[in-house]
Amino acid sequence: MKKLPLPVQNDERYLTSLASNHKLTSINPHLRVNADSIKAQYAHYMQQLGNAWNIIPNVITDELKSALIKSYETRQDDELKFIKNMRDTIDETCSMCGGKFPWSIDHVLPKSDYPEWAIFSKNLVPACRCNIRRGTLLKGSPATNARVLHPYFDDEFETRQLSCLITTTNHFRWIKVEIVYIQPNHPAINSIKYHVENIVKRSGLEKYLSRTLWSKLMNQPGLAIRGLYERETLTVANVIHLIEQDLRWFDDRTGTPNNWDSIFLHGLLNSPRVVDFVTQHHNQFVLNGGLTN
Ligand SMILES: [Zn+2]
Repeated sequence: MKKLPLPVQNDERYLTSLASNHKLTSINPHLRVNADSIKAQYAHYMQQLGNAWNIIPNVITDELKSALIKSYETRQDDELKFIKNMRDTIDETCSMCGGKFPWSIDHVLPKSDYPEWAIFSKNLVPACRCNIRRGTLLKGSPATNARVLHPYFDDEFETRQLSCLITTTNHFRWIKVEIVYIQPNHPAINSIKYHVENIVKRSGLEKYLSRTLWSKLMNQPGLAIRGLYERETLTVANVIHLIEQDLRWFDDRTGTPNNWDSIFLHGLLNSPRVVDFVTQHHNQFVLNGGLTN
């Protein structure tokens, strides 16, 4: 979950280029005939700010649908190199789920249901495996207007939306996490929840917090909270300070407070019992010369 700047591609220009590229004989007749209506749909998308409830697709022929999807999948025209560049962008944090290392491209409006925007740069975002796990999910109940939020147009990702409630079993050997919404009265809470349930959680957020990060903390505390590398025992206040520092560091480094590490650290800060345990665990770790019990 990360707000991104709008891509700068001139979408009308590459549509014209595709329609006149003589190597693409099976594609361009359909694009040429329909170029104006597709450009009008691009303008409509911008006017509606990518809001899935307000965007109205045209009825298009199967041939045009297939030409647009094939254009996306084959990227044979030089003008579509921007899609590969977008995929290869080195960004540590996925714009759709807040997880790590986006390596694919997600269509915010899925291309199978909204083919008119299959190669529209403002409908394409770098994403991780959440892209596959989400499938074509886009809208919730009409009664709530819930929908997937858009990294280019929606501002909800710019502020902290998520924390976690940590409960423990077996003397802190294992934890369970429940994702908590920080702003339950936010005007867009229905969409925030829809986005989190259908994209963020499907991508494995809870497992990352309860297994990956907690295992790190148990096995080598400094891997989960930087600063705990210090070879000295600490007070609870020291540890809280280090967690707060780390939280700011992850927020800044990833460009969003809704990255998965920050969600974990924020949850720690809201769980005094867990912070007490982390302090004791760290101190025991130091006294044991860097070995866990
Ligand atoms: Zn993702």
